[in-house]
Amino acid sequence: MILSNGRIYTIDARDRIVDTLVVRDGRVAFAGRRRDVNPTPGEPEIDLGGRAVLPGLVDAHGHLMHLARLRLTLDVAGLPSEAACAERVAARAANASKGQWIAGRGWDQNRWPGALFPARASLDRAAPDHPVSLVRIDGHAIWANSAALRAAGIDRHTPDPPGGRLERDARGKPTGVLIDTAQELVRRVEPRPGTAQMEEAVLSAIADCLAVGLTGVHEMGADLDALAAYRQLVTAGGFPFRNHVALKGADPAAWQRALEEGPAVFGDGRLVVGAVKLMADGALGSRGAAMHAPYCDDPANRGLLLLPPDELEDRARAAAGRGFQVCVHAIGDRANTLVLDALEAVLRGRSSATGGRLAPVPGMDPRHRVEHAQILAEPDIPRFQTLGVLPSMQPTHCTSDMPWADARLGVDRLPGAYAWRSLLRTGTVIAGGSDFPVELPNPFHGIHAAITRRPLAGPDPGWQPEQRMTRGEAVRAFTAWNAYAAHRESELGTLEPGKWADLVVCSADVFECAEMDIATIAPVLTMIAGEVVLDRRV
Ligand SMILES: [Zn+2]
Repeated sequence: MILSNGRIYTIDARDRIVDTLVVRDGRVAFAGRRRDVNPTPGEPEIDLGGRAVLPGLVDAHGHLMHLARLRLTLDVAGLPSEAACAERVAARAANASKGQWIAGRGWDQNRWPGALFPARASLDRAAPDHPVSLVRIDGHAIWANSAALRAAGIDRHTPDPPGGRLERDARGKPTGVLIDTAQELVRRVEPRPGTAQMEEAVLSAIADCLAVGLTGVHEMGADLDALAAYRQLVTAGGFPFRNHVALKGADPAAWQRALEEGPAVFGDGRLVVGAVKLMADGALGSRGAAMHAPYCDDPANRGLLLLPPDELEDRARAAAGRGFQVCVHAIGDRANTLVLDALEAVLRGRSSATGGRLAPVPGMDPRHRVEHAQILAEPDIPRFQTLGVLPSMQPTHCTSDMPWADARLGVDRLPGAYAWRSLLRTGTVIAGGSDFPVELPNPFHGIHAAITRRPLAGPDPGWQPEQRMTRGEAVRAFTAWNAYAAHRESELGTLEPGKWADLVVCSADVFECAEMDIATIAPVLTMIAGEVVLDRRV
């Protein structure tokens, strides 16, 4: 197949722009000028009409499983108050048989008047006869009603588990909000969806991703149910997407599978189980991110470590020893220091031949990752480059958090917050993502946020504008750098001969259009391995 008359950004090392691609056997066979192509007889040709083409956009930190499960649960994202969430629950309860579990996701008290955590009372009134569990938008807290707490066996005598906390009222009674590892108490008694239901939901989630221009995701924490659904779809030839899976280390079954079976590749590399995801701390929104100094707006709180540092190191070493890339969630500056310490120790262990000195081992290039790397202490910034550990960052987290991040962090910590430019200056690359469904999966929102560091609407708050990325860097963060962050740079990430023909024909040119229009760019035609997976040409 020939794709001609385009403005095709190859994103290769020389930033070459060509007008024609030839795709054969799912791969790019040629990238250059139309007049240099000798079509084989009958070879189809698509006239791109001068449109811009990018390599397939990949989200380096998304949760396909959660996006799929959202289909099967109640969506309470974007609602303006606790009462509005409770109302939605009441409406669902009215149509659900008594005792049926109502699970949902998406609340965010930072959007509500007063910004206070909700409590079980409002859900008890909304659904007295149904257990209700609503996950916070960031996945770091569950808001449950009394029936769900009862089902989970939670009462005033339940202690806070390590790495977690039960919010309690003045009398010590749990309010229904469970932070970080405390969520597991409810999670383990929630009913799980059936396989066929899950497969359908996965396809619907993939359709959402394709609709905004993605061709793949690095899924940061999949469990075995999700993996089974993906494998089933890949085997049946019905998985129009790429997924670089990090198994969810916090899930005992997934962790065991990782250590027993090691990395695995399915289909034509559409599904790769190549990483494990570990969690070092919580999130900034729920003040669970582990900080060196207390929160400015909660002086008794320095956040939560979800794993003791030595256990984090042991787990990282075990997974790395099995051949996995290790991806560790770290948001607070203290969590980032500890994760870098742990990964440094693991990497050092690998090069014991050099007497413990950190040195590259031939053939060893694990490219471990810190997911979020959100708030960094200044001395930690160059360590990513030195260690070969990649920061995997979500530009839209910055633009979503900037209205309240100052209050949590205070001015002293802002220079290390979402510090894209400071990191790039050290010579590292940044893997770009969205953390969907925490944010929308739209990669053009991420590219817009990276370039402008301002919200989609409203005035520019001028929040450390010196940390912005260039357009070329932002596009690379979602293409070539993501491919590198998944060890796939020889096959993906640029439109060079020999690589998979994963590409997106765009409604507008991200390099040429006005900044404010970047976020509205949409895919017109998308291919994965040369196969058309989305076609909106009229
Ligand atoms: Zn995440």
